[in-house]
Amino acid sequence: MAQDTDTKAKLLKRGINCKSFNGSLLWEPMDVLKSDGTPYKVFTPFYRNGCLKARLPRHPLEKPANVDLIKDNNNTTELKDLNLLDPIKWYSSMEPHWTIGEEGAQARLKTFLDSGLQNYKEGRDFPAKNHVSRLSPHLHFGEISPHQVWSAIQAIKIDGTLSLTDIDHFMRELGWREFSYSLLYHFPDLPRQNFQKKFDAFSWQTNSQLLKAWQRGKTGYPIVDAGMRELWQTGYMHNRVRMITGSFLVKNLLLHWHHGEDWFWDCLVDADLASNSASWQWIAGSGADAAPYFRIFNPVTQGEKFDPEGMYTRKFVPELAQLPDRYLFKPWEAPESILKTAGVVLGETYPKPIVDLKKSRKRALEAFSLLSRGAS
Ligand SMILES: Cc1cc2nc3c(=O)[nH]c(=O)nc-3n(C[C@H](O)[C@H](O)[C@H](O)COP(=O)(O)OP(=O)(O)OC[C@H]3O[C@@H](n4cnc5c(N)ncnc54)[C@H](O)[C@@H]3O)c2cc1C
Repeated sequence: MAQDTDTKAKLLKRGINCKSFNGSLLWEPMDVLKSDGTPYKVFTPFYRNGCLKARLPRHPLEKPANVDLIKDNNNTTELKDLNLLDPIKWYSSMEPHWTIGEEGAQARLKTFLDSGLQNYKEGRDFPAKNHVSRLSPHLHFGEISPHQVWSAIQAIKIDGTLSLTDIDHFMRELGWREFSYSLLYHFPDLPRQNFQKKFDAFSWQTNSQLLKAWQRGKTGYPIVDAGMRELWQTGYMHNRVRMITGSFLVKNLLLHWHHGEDWFWDCLVDADLASNSASWQWIAGSGADAAPYFRIFNPVTQGEKFDPEGMYTRKFVPELAQLPDRYLFKPWEAPESILKTAGVVLGETYPKPIVDLKKSRKRALEAFSLLSRGAS
């Protein structure tokens, strides 16, 4: 906003007419306020009353047929001349997963509408299924606008071929993106300060070894490790697994949400100041409309429920690929003979759990309940 204001002021000063339009959000955060003029802190009323009831998003305009650009004939620099890409191809494992640019974004949207949107509400929780759009980096970098996505969805809604439940659920997720931006706009400290101040007194642990094991996908909990490795290899992590790995960091390991926020910021291709900070505060329980502190994701049951055939986990944790489903999410319970047949040696080919689930859950609940008692 500061940059746009500055550009506009400079152009107007030179007598050039200039208007700006929000292409990156469906609703302007300053327009979505409660009747008393204060910002919403809870998602559902924000989305239903503040957004949907107030005004529906505008229809995107077609690309202009003729743009009269001023040519600078003295400057022949081309994009490639700027050498913007790092000569070390650290991103080579990520590259095959993404087609960067507007065309790639449109192709992604089309694929999702053709084959992913149907059954989105249920399917979006299963990381091995293709029921999420993977539009987040394209939306973040403005390669596609949320208006284009929203309008394509409206066309399908009118068409009546897909279930309204799936369509509305997907629109709601775009609404979460708007909510994150609204929070960031009205509470600019969101990326670093606890939204709920009582969390300032929380007794986070410090342990660089545990943090490193989490970052590298070596926690000994297969679904957590699969997620952290997906992130490292592809620059993306499925939303369900973001919640599992996030909960594991802040609740089982009791490490500050800033560590998770920083690591995701460094690794995600969709790293976004608003969504990343709001989501980490949601996970920690310190945010607006956050997950309650007692909601601690169990990585064993989450794996069994949301990756029942283990396709996702086996892909990113290939050293466990031969384990039967029954033990895939808890290899430490497998009899020695089964481990041997699967070629797994715990502590050698795959780590032993870095923390005890029951004990760490109890410790987290105690720490969090101290906080609520202290605050009341
Ligand atoms: C700890 C954590 C950190 C996250 N960090 C980011 C981040 O840096 N950048 C980011 O874009 N999203 C972030 N998210 C939100 C969400 O995980 C991603 O937006 C989603 O996984 C992107 O995949 P998709 O495009 O296939 O989503 P889809 O399910 O296809 O959803 C469509 C779009 O809706 C938006 N959206 C969906 N879920 C959310 C959500 N919970 N919050 C905000 N917007 C949402 C995204 O723009 C997404 O592209 C984070 C979630 C968690 C739990």
